[in-house]
Amino acid sequence: QEIRFRASVPAMSTTPDQPRRSPDHEPAGESFTNATDSDPALPSVRDWGHDVVNAEPAPLTSRVLGSKQEVDDVVRTGRDAQPAWAARPAAERAAILRRAADELEARRGALITQAVHEGGKTIDQSDPEVSEAIDFARYYADRALELEPRASLHTDGASFTSDVLTLVTPPWNFPIAIPIGGVLASLAAGSAVVIKPAPPVPGCTEIAVAALHAAGVPEEMLQVVRCDEGDVGKALVAHDGVDTVILTGAAETAELFISWRTGRAGGPRVFGETSGKNALVITPAADYDLAVADLVKSAFGHAGQKCSAASLGILVGSAGTSERLRRQLIDAVASLRVAWPTDIGATMGPVIESPGDKLRRALTTLEPGETWLVEPKQLDDTGRLWSPGLKDGVKPGSWFHLTEAFGPVLGLMYADSLDEALVLQNAVAYGLTGGLHSLDESEIDTWLDRVEAGNAYVNRHITGAIVRRQSFGGWKASSVGPGAKAGGPNYVAQLGSFAPDGVPT
Ligand code: GLU
Repeated sequence: QEIRFRASVPAMSTTPDQPRRSPDHEPAGESFTNATDSDPALPSVRDWGHDVVNAEPAPLTSRVLGSKQEVDDVVRTGRDAQPAWAARPAAERAAILRRAADELEARRGALITQAVHEGGKTIDQSDPEVSEAIDFARYYADRALELEPRASLHTDGASFTSDVLTLVTPPWNFPIAIPIGGVLASLAAGSAVVIKPAPPVPGCTEIAVAALHAAGVPEEMLQVVRCDEGDVGKALVAHDGVDTVILTGAAETAELFISWRTGRAGGPRVFGETSGKNALVITPAADYDLAVADLVKSAFGHAGQKCSAASLGILVGSAGTSERLRRQLIDAVASLRVAWPTDIGATMGPVIESPGDKLRRALTTLEPGETWLVEPKQLDDTGRLWSPGLKDGVKPGSWFHLTEAFGPVLGLMYADSLDEALVLQNAVAYGLTGGLHSLDESEIDTWLDRVEAGNAYVNRHITGAIVRRQSFGGWKASSVGPGAKAGGPNYVAQLGSFAPDGVPT
C-alpha cells in the first residue's frame, strides 16, 4: 500500500470547458478536468457536439488475430517501432500525450455514445470516464518528463530504460478510462503497446486509440487487436516479446495470466488491479443524509459493476437502529430509475449480460438470517435489466459478506463499535476501496490507521477515484505486481527499470 487518502474533499462539479484545479500540488499551467462520478451535471446541460442517444455506435475496424503467427507479427511490429519512440526526447512524447488529451476531448460525444450503446453505461457514468482519460493523458505526460535523468525528482539521476512492449488487457466496465490509462502510461514510459479490449466494448478503445494516433502516436506503437480468449489470446499474453501485461480484471484472470507467464527471466510482470468486496461504514457521528446518498451512489453506479463499488454498508451502534437512516436508504434504493442507457433519465442501467452464477445468487437468494428490504426484480426478458436489491442482516463470514457479486445488490451488516466494524470490513480477502462516514476526528484517525483498502475514503462515496488526487489501486488480493496506483506518481516508472550511474539494466 502506498498512500491512503483522507478524501474528505468536496465533490467537484466540473465541465470540460471549465476545468477545476486541485487545491494543492497542482503545477502551474496544468489543467485537469477532475473526472468524478459525483458530477451532478445533467446530460441535458452538456454540449457533447454529438447526439449521444440517437447516434449509432461506430463500426469496428481493429484487427482480429486468428493465429499465433499473427500474434508474432503484431508483437514484432511494436518492438521494431519502439526504439525510435523511446529515443525521442521526453518533452516530445509528453507534447504528443497532451495533444492526445485534446483529441480525446474532441471525441467526447462519440466516446460516450459508444459506451452507452456497447457497454450499457448510462450517460452520467460514461461522461466522467472521458474526463478521466483526459486527466490520465496530462498527468502521465508530466511523469514522462520526470524519467529523464537530470529532470528526475524521484530517481536521483539514475537512467531509466522502459519496457519495449506492454500488453494492456482492460475490463469491460470502464471501457474508456481504464484501457486508455494503461496505453498512455506505457507510451509515457517509452514502451510500444498492444491493447486487447474487453470483448463487449472494443469500439470505445478504437475511438480513443484513433484520438491518440491523430495526436501523433505512430500506428505501429499502438495497435488494437481482438482475439479469442483461447489459444490465440494465451499466445499473446504469454508471448516472450510482451515485457509487461497491464491487467484490470478479476482476480482469477490475474492468476491465469501469471501462470502463463511464470518462468520468464524477469518474472511474470503482470501488473494491475483486480477484484474488490468493499464496505462503507456509517457511525452514529455521521451526517446520515450524506452517508445514505454516498452509499447508494457507491453501490448502484453502473449497476454496481465496479471493482470499487460498495457492496456492504456496515452500520455502527445507533446508526443501525436509526429508523430515519433505514427509511432514507430504502427510499433512495427503491427510487432509482432503472432503464436502458439511451434513456437520459436512467439513474441505473443494465448489467452487461444475463447474470452468471454469483450475481444471480446475490440477486435471487437470501443466505441464512438475511431479509430483503428492497427485493431485486428482473424487469424484462433480456435478463439484463434488474431493479436494485437491498438486503438486511448479512452475517459475518457468510457468502455475501466475503464474495464479490459485481452487480446491483447492497447488503447491510451491523457492528457494536467502530472496532467491530473494522473487523468486518477487513475480513475480506480483497482490499480495494473502503469508506467511512463520520464527523468525529478520532474515529476518522482510527479508521484510517486500520482499514485495509488501497483507496480509503472519508465522508465521500467510494467510487470514482480522481487522477492524482486519489490515485487508484488495490491492497491484499486486489492487487497484482508492484502495486503502483493508476493516476499516481509511480505508475509510469514501474513500466521499466532504473540503473544507477547511467548504466541501463
Ligand atoms: N477507477 C474506478 C473507480 O475509482 C474503478 C475501476 C474498476 O472498477 O475497475 O471507481
